[in-house]
Amino acid sequence: MARKIYERNGPHLAELHPSFRLRILALMGVLAQKGILVLLTRSYASREAQRRLHATFLAGDGPRAAPENRSWHRYRLAIDGIPFRDADSDLVLDREELTWDVEVPVWEVFAKTAEELGMRSGSSFGDWPHVEWHPGLTIDQAEALGSYSLDNLGIWRRIFA
Ligand SMILES: [Zn+2]
Repeated sequence: MARKIYERNGPHLAELHPSFRLRILALMGVLAQKGILVLLTRSYASREAQRRLHATFLAGDGPRAAPENRSWHRYRLAIDGIPFRDADSDLVLDREELTWDVEVPVWEVFAKTAEELGMRSGSSFGDWPHVEWHPGLTIDQAEALGSYSLDNLGIWRRIFA
């Protein structure tokens, strides 16, 4: 089962900024010690993809998604993930029937652990699957830096500086 999760999470992890990827791997490691696995469902989103996702959300046809200029997904600094008990792996991964009930304690552990590791959980604004990391920048500063070039080269330089 771990292999199956790895195969599904791998492409999302590869899309993340390296500094954020390490934090997400740490989050997954800490949670795994508690018997909780995470299935990543979203990572990087281009400006166009984010625009479409936001429009779908506004139309009531999709999950919460910020406007294109308010999303850390655009900077490879956000993920959406579904935490679940290792014991429920077959249920979640085979049937793809994910538990979105935010009252389930596993979601609280997911959000709290992300915060403890220095990231921001979307639970504070009602988006429980969402975790983001701010590299000492506001979203407006990131937007300004990211607009310098395609593929967000501006913000990547800033983070590594
Ligand atoms: Zn998100």
